[in-house]
Amino acid sequence: MVKVNENYLKLPGSYLFSTIAKKVAAYQSANPDKKLIRLGIGDVTQPLAPAIIDALHKAVDEMASAETFHGYAPDLGYEFLRNAIAKNDYQDRGCQISPDEIFVSDGAKCDCANIQEIFSQDSKVAVCDPVYPVYVDTNVMAGRAGDYIEAEEKFSDIIYMPCTKETDFAPELPKETPDLIYLCFPNNPTGSIVSKEKLQEFVDYANKTGAVIIYDAAYEAYISEPDVPHSIYECEGARTCAIELHSFSKNAGFTGVRLGYTVIPKELERGGVALHGLWARRHGTKYNGAPYIIQRAGEAVYSPEGKAQLKEQVAYYMKNASVIYNGLKDAGYTVSGGVNAPYIWLKTPDQMTSWEFFDYLLEKANVVGTPGSGFGPMGEGYFRLTAFGSYENTVEAIERIKKL
Ligand SMILES: *Cc1c(COP(=O)(O)O)cnc(C)c1O
Repeated sequence: MVKVNENYLKLPGSYLFSTIAKKVAAYQSANPDKKLIRLGIGDVTQPLAPAIIDALHKAVDEMASAETFHGYAPDLGYEFLRNAIAKNDYQDRGCQISPDEIFVSDGAKCDCANIQEIFSQDSKVAVCDPVYPVYVDTNVMAGRAGDYIEAEEKFSDIIYMPCTKETDFAPELPKETPDLIYLCFPNNPTGSIVSKEKLQEFVDYANKTGAVIIYDAAYEAYISEPDVPHSIYECEGARTCAIELHSFSKNAGFTGVRLGYTVIPKELERGGVALHGLWARRHGTKYNGAPYIIQRAGEAVYSPEGKAQLKEQVAYYMKNASVIYNGLKDAGYTVSGGVNAPYIWLKTPDQMTSWEFFDYLLEKANVVGTPGSGFGPMGEGYFRLTAFGSYENTVEAIERIKKL
């Protein structure tokens, strides 16, 4: 008889968003007259920008005639898109990344989930705590995480790098040497950033130890301050130790459209094997490319109109972020994030646990957020609010919280 992959049974269950949904549904059915405001989930709400809609329509029409029809996309993605990415996201910022180092995909979640496949089974993984759960869970599925230790809410073979208020929610170099290091900046869930100096420390460390950094830059478009790195390739030596992941979800509203990309520099090799070649093999075997129509929509993200419209869209969300940040600060909360990221990370008041504060906010203000403890043990006593709602709802939510 076939046996299941028992590694899946080690997963503690994705309680976070299902528990939230259950609690919210129960509250709403007991209180049908209350208007809930949801500042919990990390999904965008603004419609696609006009330049993107135009590109989509045009590409759809091309599919209707034999002369302009497109079937399977090239393995790495269409050149028109890879050229636009290389120029706008890298070369214009002084990073030497060429189009043939870019792998177009249908999103960063799949890429950050799948990338671990090209590394050895016994690779030791380091993650931030709190963390975007995909990095941990995919390594659990692959049998790389050891056993779940209930009391600590941790896996025995994962190295956790605590991100605390003492370090402005940036990680310190781990004491035990990892093989793979997952970093995400600007960060989900804390909204924190790493300085270029700090990131350089990680790059130097990885080059020295032979580790590889998987750098998730999904929130790069939200960086508003100078001197915050937009790409890990701004650091010296990153081409020999770092893989970078990008998404079109948060900068361009593609959460339901699906597009992303991964960068693997040609020089990046371990044990004499180029990682670019391994990922190309994996991509070619297990993936048949993002749709032509969607890649044309992605190209429009880099057109002058697209850039201008998306700058406004990001500014819309960041106005919400500042409403939340400043409103909570005025109300006496300890808050961080919200300046270079669409997430606000707040300390729960009066020693409340993350879930106690969740219930309190739901019942007293009818506002839904995300308990920090759902992202890792270091998130206990914290809470995440997102700037992805409408401006009107965000303002009202903060007014309600201020009145508590
Ligand atoms: C939203 C998000 C992504 C993007 O995922 P897509 O699959 O591209 O929608 C990646 N990483 C983090 C940390 C995110 O929050």
